[in-house]
Amino acid sequence: MRSWSIPVGRVFGVDVRIHLTFFILPMFIFWTEYAAHQGSANGPRDLALVGIILASVVAHECGHIFAARRVGLIPKAVILLPLTGVALYDESRVEKVQPAGSVWKRDIRLALIGPLSSLALACLTAVVVIASGHGADLWKWPFLQAGKLSCSLVWANFYLAIFNLMPAYPLDGGRILRAFLSRNLDAASATRRAVSISNAIAMVLMLAGLFSDSWLTMVGVIVFSAAQLEERALVFQSVLDNVRLEEVMLTDFATLSPADTLEDALEKAVHSLQDDFPVVRGSDMVGVISKQRILDALRAEGNGYVQAVMNKIFEVSLRQDSLGSAFRKLTARNSSIIPVVEDQRLIGIVTLQNLMHSMALLAESRKLRRDEAES
Ligand SMILES: [Zn+2]
Repeated sequence: MRSWSIPVGRVFGVDVRIHLTFFILPMFIFWTEYAAHQGSANGPRDLALVGIILASVVAHECGHIFAARRVGLIPKAVILLPLTGVALYDESRVEKVQPAGSVWKRDIRLALIGPLSSLALACLTAVVVIASGHGADLWKWPFLQAGKLSCSLVWANFYLAIFNLMPAYPLDGGRILRAFLSRNLDAASATRRAVSISNAIAMVLMLAGLFSDSWLTMVGVIVFSAAQLEERALVFQSVLDNVRLEEVMLTDFATLSPADTLEDALEKAVHSLQDDFPVVRGSDMVGVISKQRILDALRAEGNGYVQAVMNKIFEVSLRQDSLGSAFRKLTARNSSIIPVVEDQRLIGIVTLQNLMHSMALLAESRKLRRDEAES
């Protein structure tokens, strides 16, 4: 989901990225305006129209982010597409646990807030336009055009509200549909069902656009790319939930002893690819330490013992724990290593560094297997 979008900043602590399809929009507007005005387009005004649509999408997404925060859900990132945004929620970072039976109601509320914010903005801007004496312009076709930017602001928000209510996942209407489906299906199947409905809608729109308004084709392309985004996030989530630590842990790793001097430890670290080391006395895990911590301690206090600077508070996992639970432990403690133990004996380690590599590999291999199963 990263490769097709570029980071543009943070809004209220959430990463905002622009999907590459967004750049179709300026070209599309330039082209339609060019056609509408018999070969004369106005560059700055066209760009302003793109800006208006982008701002309306951002405002719509802010509605979702605020609502999500209120129920303790933290969006990981918001990806802006030309006529919508997709908030990727991190279900593994829910702050308030929702009673199982009411998750679907929460999802419906979260989805509805977006179109409602857009609708409210449309009404608000319409009042301003009418108050400034341009009310008559509001009803001149086409509603969305570079020639009348203030009216376009009203209609952009209105269209966003309507567009996002389409039952095409991950648009808000599709999220509502998914919420209803999830009452009888497990989360992954509900999402998959919603994504296939969405793909069908996208196909119909793209085809219909060829014979009528080209905006429909554009909308179909956007729905299609949004559904792909969601599918990738789904694969990622299922990897988190289904992969056991024994499948990804490193079993060939270096350990340090609490009685090692920091210089010895550094010497060992230099000859290892590991950034983090378990500290073991006999067969007992007594701490963890990172290469960086060893270096910092050496710089600050000179040579000493690993015992004195290692981190004695750490979480351990079991081999059958899920990757998701290991991720939660890593992020909660802000650490970068989790020892995997069995009968209090260290049998492997999971580090952020090795997770990043193995996750990508696993996601790909699972997708391959699923594609094979489907074809
Ligand atoms: Zn929305």
